[in-house]
Amino acid sequence: MTNAIVWFRQDLRINDNPALFEACARHASVMPIYIFDRKNSVQGRAQAWWLHHSLNALEKSLHAKLKLKLILQQGDPLAILSELINKFSINAVYWNRCYEPLVIGRDKKIKASLQEIGMDVQSFNGSLLNEPWAIRNKKGDFFKVFTPYWKVCRTDLFSSPKQEIIARPATIEAISDKIDDWKLLPTVNWASQFSKVWTPGEKGAAQRLTQFINQHLNGYKIERDFPEKDATSRLSPHLHFGEISPEAILRAIESVKKDPSCDLIGIEHFLSELGWREFSYYLLYHVPSLPHKNFQEDFDAFPWHNDKVLLRSWQKGMTGYPIVDAGMRELWATGYMHNRVRMIVASFLTKDLFIDWRLGADWFLDTLVDADLANNSASWQWVAGCGADAAPYFRIFNPVLQSKKFDPNGVYIRRWVPELNSLINDVIHAPWEASNSAAIYAKINYPRPIVEHSKTRIQALDYYSQLKN
Ligand SMILES: Cc1cc2nc3c(=O)[nH]c(=O)nc-3n(C[C@H](O)[C@H](O)[C@H](O)COP(=O)(O)OP(=O)(O)OC[C@H]3O[C@@H](n4cnc5c(N)ncnc54)[C@H](O)[C@@H]3O)c2cc1C
Repeated sequence: MTNAIVWFRQDLRINDNPALFEACARHASVMPIYIFDRKNSVQGRAQAWWLHHSLNALEKSLHAKLKLKLILQQGDPLAILSELINKFSINAVYWNRCYEPLVIGRDKKIKASLQEIGMDVQSFNGSLLNEPWAIRNKKGDFFKVFTPYWKVCRTDLFSSPKQEIIARPATIEAISDKIDDWKLLPTVNWASQFSKVWTPGEKGAAQRLTQFINQHLNGYKIERDFPEKDATSRLSPHLHFGEISPEAILRAIESVKKDPSCDLIGIEHFLSELGWREFSYYLLYHVPSLPHKNFQEDFDAFPWHNDKVLLRSWQKGMTGYPIVDAGMRELWATGYMHNRVRMIVASFLTKDLFIDWRLGADWFLDTLVDADLANNSASWQWVAGCGADAAPYFRIFNPVLQSKKFDPNGVYIRRWVPELNSLINDVIHAPWEASNSAAIYAKINYPRPIVEHSKTRIQALDYYSQLKN
């Protein structure tokens, strides 16, 4: 009779979960546990909401499908695991790997300590298509540019068969917290809309994937850029919490490819987005300072203004630039923002308001349900121009042109900035440019632009050219 603990972290699912699969296959009794560790479990307040619901879903499905009881505890993982090991004569501890620098350090220490007391400790890859240390360029160094990195990964990209749990180990009962004790839900009524938009948990993730494949995979490459269309998968929070594995997504995509009428271009593009996720994890693994330090050191001298009033206007969606405000309000209301608009608002913060990308990244980490240290840090550095493989510094988005191009009929703007509902399409992207702008602003309760893009653009170019000298 051997007993194992499965320590759930960013793998809140039953299917395709190598740690759970192995523990069930090898042991007579299994204790699934989630340890809430304030420093490492969530990035911010929006994710706390998600975690609450995702753990509820996991608890129910572990019970319904495997008759296992999920134990919830809060505190220092090593202390908690050690106590349970003693109390329940545990022989083995299993988990799926996480890749944030602090968590890697923590897990290494825990593994070593548990092995010292004779535990069989096994960790698995449950959230990436490739381990970050496995991909190297010809010189043996890590890739700093996405395209050659993805070329190498893409060549060997085949999914492995689904792992079905057949064994039925007994559950090990221990004292468990109640999820409500952790008070993860916001006390103000901020997240009231989240549950209209999201269904945290493995079932919700599977539904999203099916819906995306049926409705949006064909044509993804073009449609994905238009925020009004909702034509992307919205799998990002599910992927972050490991409610679905990239393997499962890949398997589903491979099965779509059997249909000769499928859109191969859309499929390749979608896979490459998963590739960007992999690349971000890869960069974070090789450059653990990515969330805090400019990848390109030239940028350390950038003279950020960091004006608090402007930062607040950006956070509240009151910059006077309709597309920027629509994005920031979508974020606040739903915990999500469309990728195209994320690029626009990030460019606006760094290149029009001259606010340090790290302040923008912090706000995203607090308010996104898909807040992810790897994807967020790599993406912010990319937009700001200081990252690996970054957008060139002279690529400064014009928020009005972007708005006209990607939200031509102002549908997305009207959805999130209702003050502008009555404006015609020609005016909605930049009301201040209208010949009757004074009359327009007299009627709407909406600010004029807080900065003038034509001027800030010149200033940004000037700052950047000084950095390069
Ligand atoms: C400034 C900025 C900050 C961002 N912060 C985050 C973040 O905290 N968490 C996060 O998951 N994504 C982040 N992204 C990347 C991207 O915007 C989201 O992953 C995407 O919008 C999620 O929507 P989706 O699931 O419908 O994407 P889809 O278009 O359906 O893509 C499928 C999956 O690929 C991955 N992906 C897509 N685009 C990217 C990308 N550019 N970089 C890395 N992975 C990508 C995501 O896991 C996504 O779920 C950020 C982008 C920008 C510009």
